[in-house]
Amino acid sequence: MEFNLTILGNNSAIPSHGRHPAAQVLQMGNEYFLIDCGEGTQMQMNHFDIKRSRINYIFISHLHGDHFFGLIGLLNSYSLLRREKTLHIFCHQPLKALIDIQLQTCGTVLTFEIEYHFLPDKQQIIFENKQTMVQCFPLQHRIACLGFLFKEKVEGRKILKDKIEKYKVPIAQMEALKNGEDFVDANGTVIDNALLTADLPPARSYAYVSDTLFLPEIAAHIPQVNLLYHEATFKNEDAQRAADTFHSTASQSATIAHLAKTKKLLVGHFSAKYHQEHLQELLQQAREIFTETIISEEGKKYEIE
Ligand SMILES: [Zn+2]
Ligand SMILES: [Zn+2]
Repeated sequence: MEFNLTILGNNSAIPSHGRHPAAQVLQMGNEYFLIDCGEGTQMQMNHFDIKRSRINYIFISHLHGDHFFGLIGLLNSYSLLRREKTLHIFCHQPLKALIDIQLQTCGTVLTFEIEYHFLPDKQQIIFENKQTMVQCFPLQHRIACLGFLFKEKVEGRKILKDKIEKYKVPIAQMEALKNGEDFVDANGTVIDNALLTADLPPARSYAYVSDTLFLPEIAAHIPQVNLLYHEATFKNEDAQRAADTFHSTASQSATIAHLAKTKKLLVGHFSAKYHQEHLQELLQQAREIFTETIISEEGKKYEIE
């Protein structure tokens, strides 16, 4: 299954130094999930060749402007492009009223339905399909804020094509083989399932931790994720500012990655006051605790592996 992440915005608060407010697109199989939708999200999609029309699910972590001010523009464009497919928005309840008042004031009647899924303030599965599971979990910020865990579903056994041909197993038997059953051929000979199938690779996962105070409990919600995007708004020397504004520092985000036994950490949501060279210092601070850390880059596609 395709499983990759494209960062559209990795800045906090104000667009600055060429960086944009929070937004990213996660591809899992045929689905494209938009995670947060800060100002400029549409322009970034154009810039990085992400097709708006492929997005059917949007996840908004919290209702600070740098995480959703791009949403009304995106909805308006969908309508101008005569979208018909239902759009699912996972968010805190007050967002609906904010969107409705804008649509009403502008006299905009959307060409498509929005189905809102209001998020709880605790860990919960919020979306599932055949291949994917999405869970939210609480963060600690100035207002209600959630992180998201996207997990691949891996069930059953992998069919070995060459063995299927060798033992002449009919197509009708494939589901049974995937479920671990043995195959009995026309002569009544039992072919062991282990000869025909193999283990599937372990399920991969991605976690998005947006605005939060350093909160060690987060690690328990995202055990052994393959890729973790964690906010690192501030460098270590600005720890007091981080605490005052309910954000995390470089070292704190790296500590979460370490506690969760993450494979790779991607840091973002940088303070608008930092130039690119400051980010190198921030990266070094994180790497002192968790070596597999990288600075998120807008437009870059990260494979979850
Ligand atoms: Zn933010
Ligand atoms: Zn915030």
